[in-house]
Amino acid sequence: MPRKLDYNARITQRIEIAPGLIILRITPDGELFPFLPGQYTVLGLRRGEPRCEGSEPESDELRQRDSDEMIRRAYSIASSSLERHHIDIYLALVTSGELTPRLFNLKIGDRLFVGPKATGMFTLDCVAPHKHVCLAATGTGLAPYISMVRTQLTENPERRFSIAHGARYSWDLGYRDELITLDRFWSNLTYAPIISRKQSDPDWQGRVGYVQTVLEEWLQEGEGREPMRPETHDVFLCGNPGMIEQAAELLERHGFKKDERKDPGTIHIEEYW
Ligand SMILES: Cc1cc2nc3c(=O)[nH]c(=O)nc-3n(C[C@H](O)[C@H](O)[C@H](O)COP(=O)(O)OP(=O)(O)OC[C@H]3O[C@@H](n4cnc5c(N)ncnc54)[C@H](O)[C@@H]3O)c2cc1C
Repeated sequence: MPRKLDYNARITQRIEIAPGLIILRITPDGELFPFLPGQYTVLGLRRGEPRCEGSEPESDELRQRDSDEMIRRAYSIASSSLERHHIDIYLALVTSGELTPRLFNLKIGDRLFVGPKATGMFTLDCVAPHKHVCLAATGTGLAPYISMVRTQLTENPERRFSIAHGARYSWDLGYRDELITLDRFWSNLTYAPIISRKQSDPDWQGRVGYVQTVLEEWLQEGEGREPMRPETHDVFLCGNPGMIEQAAELLERHGFKKDERKDPGTIHIEEYW
């Protein structure tokens, strides 16, 4: 009997950002599905695939399951939707996790399952064309914003993109060089990286704190900068649920409101767990 789900794509690039952080380029066997920047798809590997070095051993209960079972998880697409041959996924290792230790073990040429389509409402389609966007993320929550700026930065030069990216250490700030370059050359993009563990990263000269620290700064008037307001800005929050909760509370105190299916708002949320 044929398997319900089979591998239908292969790894065509693997970039190590830092320990436990990689960017995987995945090329499907057939045509790539269309997607909007900000959407996610599903990746899968069979339970029988080996786990990477440094991951934690699985429980006896998980080890006894069918080795043909496909483990599947959602991943935001980081590449531009104009790129029609592959997708890039920015991936963090969860050492105790079921799928990521297996994804981290993949080498160029190895095969995996990728879902047949992309889904999700975390896109710029829900923002009025005259509004600016603030894109705030922790860790790999940056991925949907990379797709947005790579695809949509030049579409509407009047729209300002402000990216706040938080990580523990500077070496965990993936896509930093690209964002520094975009910030330098495009007057409508601002990039604000921030780290929380400066004591272990003494050479870091930039902002120290959390993503919420950057949002607090942008909610106030700054040199040559209007304060961020719900009338002029929509805010996107992606990644760690703790950051999302605290950032949403802060924004709500300044008049922003969560976007809900039947009740549109100015805070758009994608929680990773
Ligand atoms: C819409 C959406 C988009 C996502 N996009 C990405 C992406 O682009 N890149 C990415 O790395 N992950 C992304 N995730 C998370 C991803 O789906 C998996 O949950 C994650 O890779 C862990 O899978 P796992 O099987 O290894 O761990 P599991 O066995 O599923 O264990 C997950 C548990 O580990 C903990 N955990 C610690 N750190 C993380 C973390 N960074 N992410 C998730 N759980 C964590 C949580 O407690 C969680 O309950 C996304 C999730 C959603 C819902």
